Amino acid sequence: MNTVTEHAAIAAADAQQASTYNASDVTLRARLIEAGILIDTGEDGLYGRSQVFEDVIDRLNHAITLLGADQEAEVLRFPPAMRRHDFEDSEYLKSFPDLAGTIHSFQGNDRGHHRLLEALEKTVSVGEEERTDEWMDQQKPTRLVLTPAACYPIYPTIAKRGALAEDGATVDVFAYCFRHEPSIDPGRMQMFRMREYVRLGSPQQVMDFRQKWIERGSLLVNLLGLPFEIDLANDPFFGRGGKIVADSQRAQQLKFELLIPVATPDRPTACLSFNYHMEHFGEIWKIAQANGELAHTACVGFGMERTTLALFRHHGLDVKAWPAEVRDFLWGDTHSRISAGLEALS
Ligand code: AMP
Ligand code: ZN
Repeated sequence: MNTVTEHAAIAAADAQQASTYNASDVTLRARLIEAGILIDTGEDGLYGRSQVFEDVIDRLNHAITLLGADQEAEVLRFPPAMRRHDFEDSEYLKSFPDLAGTIHSFQGNDRGHHRLLEALEKTVSVGEEERTDEWMDQQKPTRLVLTPAACYPIYPTIAKRGALAEDGATVDVFAYCFRHEPSIDPGRMQMFRMREYVRLGSPQQVMDFRQKWIERGSLLVNLLGLPFEIDLANDPFFGRGGKIVADSQRAQQLKFELLIPVATPDRPTACLSFNYHMEHFGEIWKIAQANGELAHTACVGFGMERTTLALFRHHGLDVKAWPAEVRDFLWGDTHSRISAGLEALS
């Protein structure tokens, strides 16, 4: 959704607010900021987080750890940046050039520094609205880019180790990710956290994994007391050619999402996603299965902010007033509730 339609949606909802029930809540952003749960930075999609918000994120993260404990996934944590070379190889720019974020830095000499400060002086001497980005001319690309999805740094890492073992590999990652999609929808941030389990192996191993996680993701969201649906989905591939790629992704059923009504009035928000990449990453980084064939990969991504926003949206801004079941699940008996849920699935 673009900003213009979002503003229109907010205006429309404000007009009819309280009189009709909306499946979503376009006032959620304002209410969260007002309550101090999210902190407005003045930039769409960039927020500070309060202790209350972070506490929910922590508990959710813990629940996800328990939900995947039996997989004995290798825990790998990377900073929210990755090697530019790996990013170039990943083909992300082919599909999502508009979302990528590069990191630039001043790398000049004294004369360059002088030019930088002069340009900066011009920039800050005018009003907020008239500011230009002239000083950016002095900035040069670094060898790092911002991570677009938590699993990206792991493929080259695993590839370097040589062929996978017989039973493939399972990795647990968690990182802040960047996507340049400024929006006033609080569910569409520019920097947000993604927890993922990633599976590398044979087509059968990764398909079984994805199926398992569609079930486990649903279990988690049920335990959180949230309404949801699972639906076939596609990534927002760029440009005219992107439509064809998106259609093919759907036809091959490569992406499913777990959607929860959060803030957008016209459709629910994807809070978890279940992706099958086939041999895309295996091929780029030459990841081999034990039998020498290219590895297939799949990942389940938990949108930490989106799921947390969904909790505030449905259970209210006061976490102490959340339904007892949900409170007990998050802050009490997380372990036994998950064990019972997993038992029922098996
Ligand atoms: P994706 O790789 O697009 O499937 O994203 C994985 C998960 O990250 C999604 O299911 C969302 O929950 C979350 N996510 C994606 N984009 C954003 C965003 N702009 N703001 C917050 N969460 C996001
Ligand atoms: Zn992933």
